[in-house]
Amino acid sequence: MTNPLKIGIAGGGIGGLAAACALQRQGHDVTVFEQSREYLRVGADINLTPNAVRALDGLGAGIAAAARASAARPTHRISRTWDTGEETSRLPMSDAAERQYGAPQLTIHRADLLAALAEAFPRERVRFASRCERIEETEDGVAVRFADGGEARGLDVLVGADGIHSAVRAAMFGADAPRFTGVVAFRAVVPTERVKDVPDIGAFTKWWGPAPESQIVTFPLNQGRDTFVFATTAQDAWHEESWTTEGSVEELRGFYADFHPHARALLDACDSVLKTALYERDPLPRWSQGRLTLLGDACHPMMPFMAQGAGMAIEDAVVLARALEGVAADAVPHALRRYEQARLERTARIQVGSRGNNWLRAGGNADWVYGYDAWQVPLAEPAAA
Ligand SMILES: Cc1cc2nc3c(=O)[nH]c(=O)nc-3n(C[C@H](O)[C@H](O)[C@H](O)COP(=O)(O)OP(=O)(O)OC[C@H]3O[C@@H](n4cnc5c(N)ncnc54)[C@H](O)[C@@H]3O)c2cc1C
Repeated sequence: MTNPLKIGIAGGGIGGLAAACALQRQGHDVTVFEQSREYLRVGADINLTPNAVRALDGLGAGIAAAARASAARPTHRISRTWDTGEETSRLPMSDAAERQYGAPQLTIHRADLLAALAEAFPRERVRFASRCERIEETEDGVAVRFADGGEARGLDVLVGADGIHSAVRAAMFGADAPRFTGVVAFRAVVPTERVKDVPDIGAFTKWWGPAPESQIVTFPLNQGRDTFVFATTAQDAWHEESWTTEGSVEELRGFYADFHPHARALLDACDSVLKTALYERDPLPRWSQGRLTLLGDACHPMMPFMAQGAGMAIEDAVVLARALEGVAADAVPHALRRYEQARLERTARIQVGSRGNNWLRAGGNADWVYGYDAWQVPLAEPAAA
């Protein structure tokens, strides 16, 4: 039997914790380095489509049950035209998705998903308040220097799961800033009781606006007690990227004043709203180098229009763990290339598709996204470097 690998994961977000759970189940010696002092109850929605739920379910019955305890199961995925309200596509989700893809769609508060993963991974293996700053590969493995002066040495693998501003990515490819897209997003949560008369309130509904970046998405949250509202629009003047900055509900309503009354009713019900600018990067040609690799937003941050950001991070985590299963320390670079090879094409296609924002607008087949099984996808030999 091969010795367990000593694996460090930079970032204890959804992707980092999913990878930690998957790698630990294989017996590896895993430590998560997280910059925050604590898991914070920050953010709101996470939309997990069937491909993401299937990947998550394989991480253990405890995680699957904990996620389902607070999530909602949207009944359908519906597209509507912003002004007329005309329905342009309708996919059955919930039980129908479970029959077709082996898992339903779940919509869940980000903090509840994080808590489900955190519960399954030993807390003493998370080193909080550890912001990774300097990363180098030495003869004894990877060394990481933290902002507080501490360090970790001798890692067989370092996984950069440290989000869109990844320090691991910068160590591998040089520092460069993500690109402002010219689009801002508003997020709000309203009690469903207030909007219960809006048709199909239990569905995931996307109101396609007059411009590609203009849309309102709504879906149930917290087992349907709440409804989540996510609206995007072009706004060049606002560059602040934040999960906690308050926006103005009057501004929100102003942007969508010409939308159909059912869409406007959702905005009228909002008491408060969060606002953030959206950033993205282009697909990378590769993201593994020696004993370093990336996952999630660190390597493929994307626009939210296909709702696949968290799903891609969870799929990455599963495929990474499969590629490192039973691998000896000297075979790590090869295993990381196999992981990357299995993921590059899919994540790039979804990054580009998310930017184009046309997916399922007028129907179409969702199987290539929802039908993907991270636990079964073949791990081929990497192309020569
Ligand atoms: C606080 C927060 C709130 C969010 N809220 C939402 C939301 O409401 N809706 C939504 O759709 N998406 C939200 N997202 C984004 C979404 O979670 C991610 O796009 C997606 O899940 C991909 O996850 P990830 O693990 O790759 O990256 P992230 O979720 O961004 O996680 C990265 C983790 O790495 C940590 N980190 C960053 N840099 C370092 C470093 N140098 N050293 C150590 N640790 C580091 C961060 O603190 C974070 O915990 C949020 C992200 C964050 C960080």
